[in-house]
Amino acid sequence: MRNFAYQRPTTLLDAARLLAHHPDWQVLAGGTTMVDLLKLDVVAPTGLVDITGIAELQGHQVGADRIRFGALARMEDVADDPALRAACPALTESLWKAASPQLRHVARLGGNVLRRTRCPYFRDTSFACNKRQPGSGCAALDGGNTHLHAILGGSTQCVAMYPGDWAQALIAFDAVVSASSVKGTRRIAFADLHRLPADRPDLETTLQPGEIITHIDVPISRAMKASHYLKARDRQSYAFAAVSAAVGIQLSGNEVADVRIALGGVASKPWRASAAEAALRRKPFSEAAAREAGRIAFQDAKPLEGSAYKIALGADVVAGALMTAHQRALNPSAAAAPPDFGLPKR
Ligand code: SF4
Repeated sequence: MRNFAYQRPTTLLDAARLLAHHPDWQVLAGGTTMVDLLKLDVVAPTGLVDITGIAELQGHQVGADRIRFGALARMEDVADDPALRAACPALTESLWKAASPQLRHVARLGGNVLRRTRCPYFRDTSFACNKRQPGSGCAALDGGNTHLHAILGGSTQCVAMYPGDWAQALIAFDAVVSASSVKGTRRIAFADLHRLPADRPDLETTLQPGEIITHIDVPISRAMKASHYLKARDRQSYAFAAVSAAVGIQLSGNEVADVRIALGGVASKPWRASAAEAALRRKPFSEAAAREAGRIAFQDAKPLEGSAYKIALGADVVAGALMTAHQRALNPSAAAAPPDFGLPKR
């Protein structure tokens, strides 16, 4: 057991001051990842700043122009909100499918978007891992099990996969993150929050030292209403994604006026499939077009032997998610049904 300091401020300013005075202290919210990593000795901060007592970071609101999530909103409260489900099914479905009810009850949204990788070598200190210990090597690339590793965005230093679900819906719908420190508050496009590993896999986000995520805003768009989150995984109940897709469609007649496609389980960070979106825009929608978009989404994939299966599976997941979203665009009341849609039949 390592000793560490623990503080529970009740204002954002007090939390920011603590982090400014103690650069190696870390933020604690729901603790569903942090406590794991402390026990495994993967992280060893000398202090934790528990932010769960800060009232201004709680809750969420579905407004006319934007949806605002406080960083301390609980996954469960947000996933079960019928107003949010009506506004953007993908945002609630991705939370339902992310974790068990027990975890959803505890976990907070600000921490959820900062999920650490589930690479088994990162979590086991007996293995080499450039992310945990820069310059030590990468046990996954040195012949390890790469079944759940990235096929997009990896580098020669790290092929860890970003494991979150909700982040795919956020990047698909152009979310913006607010972050505060003693220097003030700044807004970061969600697409710029996570970094690719390149030659510094230990640097996972663009947050500056001492910055705390305070809110996440998602602008209302028409493609949100006909959205869907489809997740393929090793078992049906609460496993990490082998491949997932958050999509949304806006139709103009039979033509695709707007489409959003983001991929999960396959990349080093939340991943927007822009080329696949471009292939669908301003054209009639069809199953063939959805399947072609799925193929395009993975055309730049660089799999290892253990992760090669994700290319064909991923194309099916993208096509399946698009076909469900298209049904919802044709029949908006379908979006109120439980999210039990599966992969398309071959
Ligand atoms: Fe570490 Fe990344 Fe290699 Fe996994 S893939 S062992 S996280 S460097």
